[in-house]
Amino acid sequence: MARHQNYIAGRWGPAESGNYYQSHNPGCPSQVLGEFPRSGPADAEAALTSAETARAIWNKTHAPQRAAILLRFSQLLLESKEELARIITLEQGKALCESIGEVTRAAAEAAFAAGEAVRLSGQTFPSERPGFTCYTVLQPVGVVAAITPWNFPVVSPVRKIAPALACGNTVILKPASMTPWSATYITALFEKAGLPPGVLNLVIGSGECGERLISDARVRGISFTGSTAVGVRIAEKVAGRMAKIQLELGGKNPAIVVQCNDLDTAAQEIVGAAFLCSGQRCTALSRVIVEESQADQLRDRLSAHIAKIRVGNGLDPQTTMGPVVSREQMETVAAYVRKGLEDHATLVAGGRPLTENPETEGYFYAPTLFDHVSPASALAREEIFGPVLPMIRVKGPEEAFEVANSTRYGLAASLFTENPHLVNEFIQKVESGMVHVNHGTASQAHIPFGGVKDSGQGAFSIGPTVKDAFTNVKTVYIKW
Ligand code: NDP
Repeated sequence: MARHQNYIAGRWGPAESGNYYQSHNPGCPSQVLGEFPRSGPADAEAALTSAETARAIWNKTHAPQRAAILLRFSQLLLESKEELARIITLEQGKALCESIGEVTRAAAEAAFAAGEAVRLSGQTFPSERPGFTCYTVLQPVGVVAAITPWNFPVVSPVRKIAPALACGNTVILKPASMTPWSATYITALFEKAGLPPGVLNLVIGSGECGERLISDARVRGISFTGSTAVGVRIAEKVAGRMAKIQLELGGKNPAIVVQCNDLDTAAQEIVGAAFLCSGQRCTALSRVIVEESQADQLRDRLSAHIAKIRVGNGLDPQTTMGPVVSREQMETVAAYVRKGLEDHATLVAGGRPLTENPETEGYFYAPTLFDHVSPASALAREEIFGPVLPMIRVKGPEEAFEVANSTRYGLAASLFTENPHLVNEFIQKVESGMVHVNHGTASQAHIPFGGVKDSGQGAFSIGPTVKDAFTNVKTVYIKW
């Protein structure tokens, strides 16, 4: 069995802590994928020293050189697509076609970020006093800690590392404990692309290790994607020292269906966006809000599209939905299904595990649809992060928008309608970082991505807004 290592100061080396843990395949939990470091304080300290020291080297690496390294990395991702996609599927579980899509997407985001390195421009200003030249420049924040979740083990780290490096920062990556293999692989690709030693450091370990990193005064920027609970904890921790922070957190993303003529296309879009990655996407559509007069028809069409989902091992080419990531995640899903039944919601599809003994056969759960869900219930309000879609019936558009805004989250929302007035109203009224009309919640590789309310804080990631996350503005006044 392969024993993987941390990558610090340009060297792959054993954990100072001497502790390792085993990672497993969620589609076949008895399969051990490898041993990975359970890093401790000494490992975090080594990574911090390395990243701080490498700032001087990276500062001297001119923007076009940084861009060239990132473009090489993007190309290497594409060349390694098949192998890396297989690793994603083995450790995360998602269907292989999704994993291939994830690597392709990561390559596109890295290529865009490469271009940002040479677009780090400030502004010039006319002076109110004669003889002055006034302008702003963008400067790197310093050492950035990138802390990532398990649902997108390649795209999530790349979405942080590539723009942070483009902007001239050095980076320490702490990936999710459940998906360290993908992180190891992409770190090796960054090394191969020609990053100088210490500019990117990989420390594999628990949340405690992440907390150690974000608590250190040398870390001037934090980019975190994960649960709202941990995001809030990080924000509280770093508030005292004013480090720059970018938080991408949970969601409870509504699909509103009102005055919609093409219910079949709406259902197809909703099912795609709800059950991709077994519903473990921050932007997964996770509640349907439908006007009563269209609800029966929509429910039947949703059921028909759900019936086409092929649940199975991610490496099987027939599979369109893999397992959930872990036993804990499966238990969470099962607990929400029980709550739904206790709250008298109507179970329309699924609602059960697909294996008798998940510990040996895999964490497979049937795609689940509930109807007649009360907007006040846990199913309708809380992030489940699994293949469960609740349907809430409302009288009309006004109530639909009210229900859409009634959770703590505000990440993504979709509207399906033919009425242009409702489109305008939806865009104005719905409290959400991203809104979609007549399609599911899919993002693109160069367009800002983020949330409001408890779904996020700080600059949006992807696209030109990354510069706000990973640079500081410096204002210059020169008197000649
Ligand atoms: P967690 O918040 O549990 O973990 C995210 C990362 O933070 C992991 O690397 C974790 O390490 C680490 N971590 C845990 N505790 C701490 C701590 N105290 N200090 C610093 N780091 C810590 O989230 P999940 O991995 O379970 O991911 C699922 C969540 O992520 C969902 O809520 C989902 O909505 C959200 N998400 C949001 C996205 C967005 O763009 N808005 C995109 C994708 C996911 P370890 O794994 O070792 O516990």
